[in-house]
Amino acid sequence: MFDKILIANRGEIALRVIRACREMGIKSVAVHSTADADAMHVRMADESVCIGPPAGAQSYLSIPAIISACEITGAQAVHPGYGFLSENANFVQIIEDHGLTFIGPSAADIRTMGDKITAKETAKALGIPVVPGSEGGVPDVESARKAAADMGYPVIIKATAGGGGRGMKVATSAADIDVAFSTARSEAKAAFGNDEVYMEKYLQKPRHIEVQVFGDGKGNGVHLAERDCSLQRRHQKVFEEAPGPCITAEERARIGKICADAVAAMSYSGAGTVEFLYEAGEFFFIEMNTRLQVEHPVTEAIFGVDLVREQIRVAAGLPLSFTQDDLQINGHAIEVRINAEKLPNFSPCPGKITAYHAPGGLGVRMDSALYDGYSIPPYYDSLIGKLIVHGRDRPEALARLSRALGELIVDGIDTTVPLFHALLDEPDVQSGNYGIHWLERWLEENLGS
Ligand code: ADP
Repeated sequence: MFDKILIANRGEIALRVIRACREMGIKSVAVHSTADADAMHVRMADESVCIGPPAGAQSYLSIPAIISACEITGAQAVHPGYGFLSENANFVQIIEDHGLTFIGPSAADIRTMGDKITAKETAKALGIPVVPGSEGGVPDVESARKAAADMGYPVIIKATAGGGGRGMKVATSAADIDVAFSTARSEAKAAFGNDEVYMEKYLQKPRHIEVQVFGDGKGNGVHLAERDCSLQRRHQKVFEEAPGPCITAEERARIGKICADAVAAMSYSGAGTVEFLYEAGEFFFIEMNTRLQVEHPVTEAIFGVDLVREQIRVAAGLPLSFTQDDLQINGHAIEVRINAEKLPNFSPCPGKITAYHAPGGLGVRMDSALYDGYSIPPYYDSLIGKLIVHGRDRPEALARLSRALGELIVDGIDTTVPLFHALLDEPDVQSGNYGIHWLERWLEENLGS
């Protein structure tokens, strides 16, 4: 086992990894930008290294700075968290070239899944059902028109290198296709430096269902059921739950086995998420994320396992500490993402926290790097906390969420907490009756945003 792990991240996810390290008796190293000198992850780690100025590109994304921090501190392994360098195959390669261990899958698997076209081809070859769409990339607008006519409108044009819900455009009819195609391409170029796009049939009322998988890197794979992340704004998740309220035990076993078998066939190492759109009893693969997800705690809650601990164990060459048969679902869990944003437009709202009180009690977990007097810097993602609740069933989890949100105090800035209070009053949220477009419509009707 490693003696010391460096965490190439910040905020709540850096704390999450430090906590797992501490329970395993492993020393932790925090890295930070000058803007994060007073951040909680720096305070909580055993050691810390300043790796650059505020801009992410010069600090949390600086590979030379992170490698130097490993050398200075003697860290043997790097946990990337999510975002930043977590899905950067080049970073993994450089880590390995320096004799260090990356806590995550191989550079080759990250590369395959990072390109959405090769990801879909690989998924298909492994027996995973995919969304109908173009065969590979769509090079020009004539090909886009033809592909759309073949599959039928509406269609969605997506960036091959996409992520974070960016670079996606929907065309509802032939009249939209030229504009949608050129906008998707230029957005993809601007966001990812790669303007390659592909096309899919645009599903009208799907849910977002994702399967948590784990591989030991030696040909064994398990699944930890699904999460439903259908409540989204601009293709970004805001409310996640496990298990999926509309998924039957048979569907779970079937799609779970397909994913676990695929992971085994790839000799995949560590945590992964296979994302699907789900409509009328059918699953359609959209992508695989080769890292820990923001919403992993809902899965931890219903299975009672520590996914970061498993990631570290697998990276150290140890076997998984559970088999498929050990993994039995217990109750229901929900996470809400609390962002430093002002409603109704969700404009970023960094600033000084004048009072902070985290909710507690049975079945409540608050993953956050906030503290009284902390100043949220304006340079990074607006996620400031994740409130996770666990109950014996979905109604209990919902009641607990409402109670815990009522206890939470974050003064000094605006947050997305009022959104969740309002959503919990909605009959559709109470019954779990929503698809991926539900929240956008609700926001328009209720907040005009
Ligand atoms: P990203 O990597 O940017 O998150 P994804 O491919 O995972 O992109 O898609 C993100 C979200 O976009 C999905 O959860 C869904 O809401 C929407 N989406 C993607 N593909 C389709 C599709 N074919 N039909 C309908 N919605 C889609």
